[in-house]
Amino acid sequence: MAADPTTVSLPPELIPGDGRFGSGPSKVRPEATRALADAGATFLGTSHRQPAVRSVVGSIRAGLADLFSLPDGYEVLLGNGGSTAFWDAAAFGLVEHRAEHLVFGEFSSKFAAVTAAAPFLDDPVVLKSEPGTHPELVADATVDTYAYPHNETSTGVMTDVHRPGDDGLVLVDATSGAGGLPVEPTHFDVYYFAPQKCFAGDGGLWLALCSPAAIERIERLGAGERWVPPSLSLPIALENSRLDQTYNTPALASLFLLEHSVRWMLEQGGLEFTTARCDRSAEILYGWAEASTFAQPFVAKPSERSHVSGTIDFVDEVDASAIAKALRANGVVDTEPYRKLGRNQLRIAMFPAIDPDDVATLTHAIDYLAEALR
Ligand SMILES: *Cc1c(COP(=O)(O)O)cnc(C)c1O
Repeated sequence: MAADPTTVSLPPELIPGDGRFGSGPSKVRPEATRALADAGATFLGTSHRQPAVRSVVGSIRAGLADLFSLPDGYEVLLGNGGSTAFWDAAAFGLVEHRAEHLVFGEFSSKFAAVTAAAPFLDDPVVLKSEPGTHPELVADATVDTYAYPHNETSTGVMTDVHRPGDDGLVLVDATSGAGGLPVEPTHFDVYYFAPQKCFAGDGGLWLALCSPAAIERIERLGAGERWVPPSLSLPIALENSRLDQTYNTPALASLFLLEHSVRWMLEQGGLEFTTARCDRSAEILYGWAEASTFAQPFVAKPSERSHVSGTIDFVDEVDASAIAKALRANGVVDTEPYRKLGRNQLRIAMFPAIDPDDVATLTHAIDYLAEALR
């Protein structure tokens, strides 16, 4: 009989320095947590309309513009509710009549479901592919908005941010890709995300990098007939963002941790540093899986294997869920796959805050456990 996974102890040298490999919420850098504790008395519990908090929002907005080398005219918007709330806001305030969605996993299908259900929009064009792959954009004259994720976190498939070749707005769900994958800002109109993935922060906020065409769309639709709940109104978010605030009270700790991360990324060398670190982790993870006799990358095409959230399939004789349980019992957490995918798989985040050496140690720990649990 196989050993009980929760009773297997890893040798100390096989325990990563930080055991958080979840794809969101993800590892928060201990330096950021300490800085938050230090700033507690002057920052937490103070008004979000006063300089202490507004200067943090201002630093986030300026820092993101710098990190992503945003061209003149691009603006950084933010609001409450995370990326999921942004889908609702975008259905109200960015899609004019009809969207095209690339759907290849849980998150991309959720946004498609939002525009499909919106009574004031035409039925979307939905281009779907099997989990582990992604469909391609198709230019369509009946569509005014194209939507796809930079990284489908549920399956570990990444895409190239690009335009379909006509003039619809391009909305990229970069919730788990922003900050860890390369991107050219002229290739998107809206690049939106939340802080709890590559930005090693806490959830509850959405951030959106918007092109002049996106700002024009927000203002034009906002002046039209469509009723919009104020908390999901992008014109209201735009107006407040320009004042370095949110329409209603934000989670101050989330703002603080995000600002700390953006500054850390810039100090380390910006997107060049972060993407190189994710590339290194991905090379370690997929290199190990390809050489393994019992594991292999889930995503067939190497160019589509995510550099921020890796999915690894296991042969039937090795129970991935038992490995995840044993890892968890040793303080190495959240390596379980996306639940609805239903595969004998582990999913391992490789966000910029995660040390590539810890990814390497994790692969050795998995080798050890696969043997110990046989
Ligand atoms: C996590 C995630 C979301 C949801 O983000 P929330 O902030 O929880 O709403 C959306 N899209 C992708 C690609 C994600 O990884």
